[in-house]
Amino acid sequence: MSGMLFEKNREGGPPPPVKVGPVTFGGNKIVVIAGPCTVESRAQLMEIACAVKEAGASILRGGAFKPRTSPTSFQGLQEEGLALLAEARERTGLPIVTEVLDTSQLNEVAAVADMIQIGSRNMCNSVLLRRAGASGKPVFLKRGMGATVNEFLLAAEYVLREGCAALALCERGIRSFEDSTRFTLDLNAVPVIKERSWLPILVDPSHGTGVASLVAPMARAAIACGADGIMVEVHPRPETALCDGNQCETPEHFFEMVRSLKAVAESVGRTL
Ligand code: PEP
Ligand code: MN
Repeated sequence: MSGMLFEKNREGGPPPPVKVGPVTFGGNKIVVIAGPCTVESRAQLMEIACAVKEAGASILRGGAFKPRTSPTSFQGLQEEGLALLAEARERTGLPIVTEVLDTSQLNEVAAVADMIQIGSRNMCNSVLLRRAGASGKPVFLKRGMGATVNEFLLAAEYVLREGCAALALCERGIRSFEDSTRFTLDLNAVPVIKERSWLPILVDPSHGTGVASLVAPMARAAIACGADGIMVEVHPRPETALCDGNQCETPEHFFEMVRSLKAVAESVGRTL
């Protein structure tokens, strides 16, 4: 393949650094994105936002519009969730990344988000990829759970071709025959993408494993194999979480995990 904007040695020289407010993706410093799977209430979001900031996160995540497998599951607080995310940004100073499910929501999500997330279930939605790429906002693109790395990079190409100046990718696990974890976190994708592309690649060990106790070991592995950052779900009372409680770290565990990542980052010449 050649002539692609995602390629490492693309025509027109190296792209500018991928920046979201004060945060640079793909630089020496590892980017830590953390927050609840879904925004549940003001109290829940503020508690988590303050805790992850304290622990060293640089971007706050949280779903307002949730892509749920079952239509009977909680679908997110939607507009109210967006307003709460804006409030959490004001409270903590952390930039916000949140998911857009559909082009009809794009303007309203883009009005609040510092970075627009396109989730695994929408990675191959070329109409949404284009609209997000044209929104003028940084984009966080997660790998489709059934997509090859090549398809993932081509999805990124849709975003880049609309003029998006700040795009980061996220490996979040793929479907395999293995059923001891929710998905199979494909860490191979990290060095593969690093060989082929200049795009920053982060890893989501929360969705990638689906098991809270496995998040820290796989986050360490992600940094060790060259990931530019991690995205992690945190909840103070995971057993009561409205979404993905099994994979949420408590703030205490998150704090410990970030501490443990520092040594791994240093060992591969990065900082945290
Ligand atoms: C998420 O990060 O909120 C999410 C739904 O993840 P994914 O799209 O990877 O399933
Ligand atoms: Mn989740």
